[in-house]
Amino acid sequence: MNNDIDWGSLGFGYVPTDYNVRCYFRDGKWGEIEVSSSPYMEMHIAATALHYGQEIFEGLKAFRGKDGKVRIFRLEENARRIADSARGLLMAPIPEDLFREMVLKVVKLNERFIPPYGTGASLYIRPFEVGMTAQVGVKPAKEYCFVILVSPVGPYFKEGFRPTKICIMREYDRVAPKGTGRWKVGGNYAASLASGERAHEMGYSAVLFLDPREKKYLDECGPANFFAIKDGKYITPASDSILPSITNKSFMQIARDLGMEVEQRHITVDELEEVTEAAAAGTAAVASPIAEIDDIDTGKKYVIARDGNPGPVTTQLYNTLRGIQYGEIEDTHNWCTIVDL
Ligand SMILES: *Cc1c(COP(=O)(O)O)cnc(C)c1O
Repeated sequence: MNNDIDWGSLGFGYVPTDYNVRCYFRDGKWGEIEVSSSPYMEMHIAATALHYGQEIFEGLKAFRGKDGKVRIFRLEENARRIADSARGLLMAPIPEDLFREMVLKVVKLNERFIPPYGTGASLYIRPFEVGMTAQVGVKPAKEYCFVILVSPVGPYFKEGFRPTKICIMREYDRVAPKGTGRWKVGGNYAASLASGERAHEMGYSAVLFLDPREKKYLDECGPANFFAIKDGKYITPASDSILPSITNKSFMQIARDLGMEVEQRHITVDELEEVTEAAAAGTAAVASPIAEIDDIDTGKKYVIARDGNPGPVTTQLYNTLRGIQYGEIEDTHNWCTIVDL
């Protein structure tokens, strides 16, 4: 255990750890796993990642449970998703078993950075892949580097699990219809920075993006999927310009397990009038409850959490997922991989 870290006051930043793991794709194949204690990588100044955005990533977490065991949440899903992202950007897909081996290795090597149970903190795992080939012409690289770094992170909500306000702004899109929104691409984040900063300046925690083709349907909340509760049903957008969130997928399953109906379909902006709860779903925060959604263009304000508290369904989904991650609730779907320490 690491005695230099004040686990309780950890934020969502970057804390240096002991090791990262890397693997290079060269001559058409993945090489040996390399362990590095350097936080830097050597890259050619003409690498495709730097000029043409061949960069994809993932985000998952390891939790120290109530029973002392370390659990990694749904790592097979992240393995599948990064391979999809790679295919989307014509990069070399990482074999799922290589992904798994590297995730387990980097977690074990940095065991002393896995926060203790009860602190609300966890070990964030950030795999990423970059195009390494030096070329000035626009074409996919031939060589790639896949790296996994880890960093302990605190609970996302420093002030607790409280609803916040978000906004709709039609002036911005983060992705194009049929574009890269369905893959976890760094460039999608670059494209969302300006609108995100605008929203923060206006006092909102995030932007709820609309579908980029018609601006009629809800898409997602920047780096998190959107869901709402309407007539007791769990509803979440079906769209090919959003990233399939593993947290959202897990909530859909938990909702079904609780006997709720789940609908993945187009959701119009007007429908926000009728929702009783809404939240953003993602690994970082699990669920961020939404108090109010302000439509900047029309001036309409959709007040959702009228009493300022998270709704009962959102709270139950949040507590159930966190309970599974910390080993407090039975993992009936086999979502967690227990790390053999
Ligand atoms: C990572 C991400 C999410 C959340 O996905 P999880 O698998 O739940 O962490 C949602 N939207 C976007 C755009 C993302 O990049």
